[in-house]
Amino acid sequence: MFRIGIGNDTHRLVADRPLVLGGLRIEFDRGAEGHSDGDALTHAIADAILGAMAQGDLGLHFPDNDSQWKNADSLQLLARVVWLAHERAFQVVNVDATIMLERPKLREHIDAMRDNLARTLNVDASCVSVKAKTGEGLDAVGRGEAVSAQAVVLLEPKPN
Ligand code: MG
Repeated sequence: MFRIGIGNDTHRLVADRPLVLGGLRIEFDRGAEGHSDGDALTHAIADAILGAMAQGDLGLHFPDNDSQWKNADSLQLLARVVWLAHERAFQVVNVDATIMLERPKLREHIDAMRDNLARTLNVDASCVSVKAKTGEGLDAVGRGEAVSAQAVVLLEPKPN
């Protein structure tokens, strides 16, 4: 049986933090506040996989009061979620995701993010879509105060 899941994540942008999206460090004067590396895109995808399996959310599996996950590389969290899926005999079919960020522009970084995510998800990069939009000067994203991401993931049963 196919399973579909949706994920959303938002992080506040602050000084003296790295901006990491899809496992890629992007040069910028601010970064995402958070217990881990604050990678909103990777968190949204991991939440979507957990959602497809009705297995709660990232906060349940990786509590932010657990020092083990402080400044964690979120690709490693995603790898653990993929492993949870494999344990339940699921594999990822495809991912479609959107990053909401006012600046910097992300176009030149999209393919490197897709490659990072595809490697972690055990799929071809052609099965990972990453889009980027701005907030058009509106809301917290538009004011440059936040980065957010949404993702939809389809899972299929792993062949025996
Ligand atoms: Mg997050």
